[in-house]
Amino acid sequence: MNAVSAILLSSLFAATLVADGVGYTNTPVIRGQKWRVHDKFRPTPPVVTPGATFSHGAQPPSDATVLFDGSSLNAWVADSGGPAKFKIVNGILEVAGGSIHTAQDFGDSQLHIEWSAPSEVKGDSQGRGNSGVFFHNDFEIQVLDSYNNVTYADGQASALYGQWPPLVNPVKKPGEWNSYDIVFEAPHFDSDGKLTKPGFVTVFFNGVCVHNRKELNGPTHHQVTDPYKPYSGRGPIGLQDHGNPVHYRNIWIRPIGQYN
Ligand code: MG
Repeated sequence: MNAVSAILLSSLFAATLVADGVGYTNTPVIRGQKWRVHDKFRPTPPVVTPGATFSHGAQPPSDATVLFDGSSLNAWVADSGGPAKFKIVNGILEVAGGSIHTAQDFGDSQLHIEWSAPSEVKGDSQGRGNSGVFFHNDFEIQVLDSYNNVTYADGQASALYGQWPPLVNPVKKPGEWNSYDIVFEAPHFDSDGKLTKPGFVTVFFNGVCVHNRKELNGPTHHQVTDPYKPYSGRGPIGLQDHGNPVHYRNIWIRPIGQYN
C-alpha cells in the first residue's frame, strides 16, 4: 500500500468512527473539562459486570426517611402540581403521568434507590429506558437502559447528566434491578448569591463506585452549560418522566452533614 492509499484508508476509518458516534460536536465545552456537553467523541465507560451475589433491597437504617416502600405515593407530588401520577403495580412504582418530586425538601443527603429498565426493549440511545433522579430540581443523575445501548458518554445510566460519565458501566440487563447509592453535597452560596462551594456527588451503582465526589459544574441540562443559581442548599428529590415506563422501588434518604 502506498502512502496516499494509507492516508485515504485511515481517513475513511476515522470518518466511520465519527459516523458511528452518538452525540454532539457543536455544544459548549464543559467548564474545567476538555469535552463538550454530550461530546460525540468522549470515550464510552468500560462495561463492568457487577458481582452476582450483590444484594439489592437494602433496608433503610433507623434515621432514614422512607420515600417509597411499595405502598403509597404520599411522599410525592406532581411537578405540574397536584397528586403524583406514577403507577403502583404490585408494590413497584412505574413512571407515568409526568415527573414527580418529594413534598419534603432535603439538604446534603444519602439516597438509596432501585430501578429497572423496561424488559421489553424499545427505542435507542436517550429514547430507551430514560428517567432520572433529580436533586434540588436542577441536578440529574441519569437513569437509562445502558445495556448494549450506544449513546453519548455523559448521558449513560448514572451519568451526572451532560457533565460526567460514570467511571465504568455496571448496568444490569433490561428488567433486572439496579441500585444507586448517592451522596449529594449541595452547593453553598454567600449572602450576595456568590458560589462559595460547588456541589459534589458520589455514586455507587450496583455496588460499584462510578463517581468519587465529582464536582457539579452547575445545573445539568440537555446540550447546554448553565451557571449555578443561588438557593438555600435544600430542595426536593425528583423522578423524571421521560416517556418510558421505568420501574422504581425501595427509595429512602437520610440526611448527612447535620452531625458536622
Ligand atoms: Mg433522564
